[in-house]
Amino acid sequence: MKNLTTTFALLLTTITLLGVAPASAGEGRRPLSQFTKTDGEKACYDRGTQPHTAVTDLHLHAQPFGGTSIAYQELMGYLDKTEVRFALLYGIGQTLPFNGECTYYLDCIGTDARPGMKNDFENAANYVEYPQKNIHVALSMAFPDLAEPGDIVAKIKLLDAEYPGLFKWMGEVNLHKEALRGNGHIPATPQDIAQWKDFMRLLQKRGIPIAIHSDLGDDSDPTKNLHLMREVLRLYPDNKIVWMHMGLSRELVKMDPADHIKLMSGLLGQNSNLSLDISWTVIAEAYFDTPEKRALYVEFFNRYPTRILAGTDFVAASNKNILVYHKEANVTGGILADLDDEAFRAIALGQNYFDLAPGLGDEFEAPPICPSKSGSD
Ligand SMILES: [Zn+2]
Repeated sequence: MKNLTTTFALLLTTITLLGVAPASAGEGRRPLSQFTKTDGEKACYDRGTQPHTAVTDLHLHAQPFGGTSIAYQELMGYLDKTEVRFALLYGIGQTLPFNGECTYYLDCIGTDARPGMKNDFENAANYVEYPQKNIHVALSMAFPDLAEPGDIVAKIKLLDAEYPGLFKWMGEVNLHKEALRGNGHIPATPQDIAQWKDFMRLLQKRGIPIAIHSDLGDDSDPTKNLHLMREVLRLYPDNKIVWMHMGLSRELVKMDPADHIKLMSGLLGQNSNLSLDISWTVIAEAYFDTPEKRALYVEFFNRYPTRILAGTDFVAASNKNILVYHKEANVTGGILADLDDEAFRAIALGQNYFDLAPGLGDEFEAPPICPSKSGSD
């Protein structure tokens, strides 16, 4: 009995520490309605009492690499209780065989993980079946194989036929993902990139951004794949392009932050349609982990407030639970607390997302930030 009591007390402490309980039956401290566009006056956002983490999760894989996913309604509950009000749902660029044993690709080296359409359909079916009151959901096309671009337009048309107008984004698609090389991933070549023009033109016409995972390099040669993204930016300057994880990855955790920021600043300066995704706990733990490094990135984000997008990169495999989601939202969103008000509103409160996703800016806007009580900034 004592053991049970102790376990229960420990569980309660854990839950309280993580801020998960009490479950928000309504809309908690950060209602969706605070982000709805109105002509009237809007309640300002109080950074002293309202959450400092992102209201958007713009990097959320609702489907895992393999195995079963967290049920959609349950996943929406995770977001609601974490006070995430805007979710951009990705499938996953590469899925393991449906009849395989693995949930995570790195546990199944040698098994091909192939791009496909099934989880885009699954996300769309869930979206239609379970409308959300407290969360705005948008869908992203995760099916394209960037090294085999020939059928991408036809597949977009297939989604159009089944779910007209529902898909507002493309990604996460893999240009070069080193970690997946053991699972049959073939990086796109400059020749492949040149063949993207038909689908890129269609995306541009629709104002749909494309979110690309492309490893900048690895710790032995931090910029060895930079030429690939440069080629994309050179050939498609009029497309909205999001570079996932700012090019960083588990293979590149030791790049000098000053060098990385200098490189990214140059690219943002030259390419007005480029945005950077700052999701993934791996990035936060490798680059925002000391006060010195974190300060450099805070200064960088403050300098480019309109060019940064926030998300978790949570992969909804059924062996995870709300504590994992909550932790990932806190780890990836931790740095946002240090941003100045302009950058906080643009990044953490979703204004960049509303400006980027087609049609969203007509419906939503980030609230203004309340003047700080201490009178200093
Ligand atoms: Zn991802």
